[in-house]
This record gives sequence, structure tokens and C-alpha cells, in this order.
Amino acid sequence: MSNISGSSSCSTNVRERGRIVGVPKRCWCGETIVAKTSKSDHNPNRRYLRCVYAAGNKLMNDNHVFKWVDDALLDEVETMKEFISETMKEKKMQMELQMELEKKMVMEVEKEIFERIEDVKDEFKSRMNRMIIVLVFGCMIMIGLVKLI
Ligand SMILES: [Zn+2]
Repeated sequence: MSNISGSSSCSTNVRERGRIVGVPKRCWCGETIVAKTSKSDHNPNRRYLRCVYAAGNKLMNDNHVFKWVDDALLDEVETMKEFISETMKEKKMQMELQMELEKKMVMEVEKEIFERIEDVKDEFKSRMNRMIIVLVFGCMIMIGLVKLI
């Protein structure tokens, strides 16, 4: 009993010390990682990843890479989930930015159109004023001419 709890706390310690997110590709010592099957009473037939050097020398309680395969895969899934949600968030932000830009562009175009309309109105008004003045003058001259005759 004490042997089982001892080995379990040992593997937990190692896991905490050599904590690697996802599937480890290489140990810190430079060795590659090998997949092994646990033969312990506590985790029978559970697959784990181990530093080749540590596995070859049957090291115990060391800080070379040790990771349960299911944990590693769970990490990978979590990382993937995070990546997907990050990407989605980014996409959403991009879309919002795009929409904001489009809205701004539409507003600017509207403003420009409005300003042009105002310009045209002003020009039209000043032309009308000139025409009215010319007309009034023309009428006065005509009346004067008529009176002269
Ligand atoms: Zn190692």
C-alpha cells in the first residue's frame, strides 16, 4: 500500500516539475521522447511519454520529461480549443473593425454628398439672386424706355 501511494506521489512530483503543455517533442536534456506503457499497479497499461535517456537508465524521481499520453492529448485539445476561440475572437474583432470602417466611410460619403448638395444649393441661390437682379434691372429699363416713348 505504501509502495503504491509512494510511486503515485513520485510520478505526480515529476509531472509537476517537468510540466510541459501539450505533447512534448524533446526533453530539456536534448534526448527525444519515447511512448511507453505503465506497468505500475496504480496506472496499469496507461501510456506515457518519457525522456529516452531517463527511460533507458530507468531513472526514478528525476526531472526528465514524464507525461501521461491522455494528459498530453487533453492538453493538446485544450490548446486547440483556446487557439480556435482566440482565432474566432480575432475574426470577430476584425469583422467589427471592418464594419466600423465601413460605417465611417458611409458616414463620410454621406457628409460629402450633403456638403455638395449644400454647395449646389448655395450656387443655385446666388445664381437665382443674380438672375432676379438682372430681371428687375431689365424690367426697370423696359419701364423707363416705355415711359420715354
Ligand atoms: Zn531527459
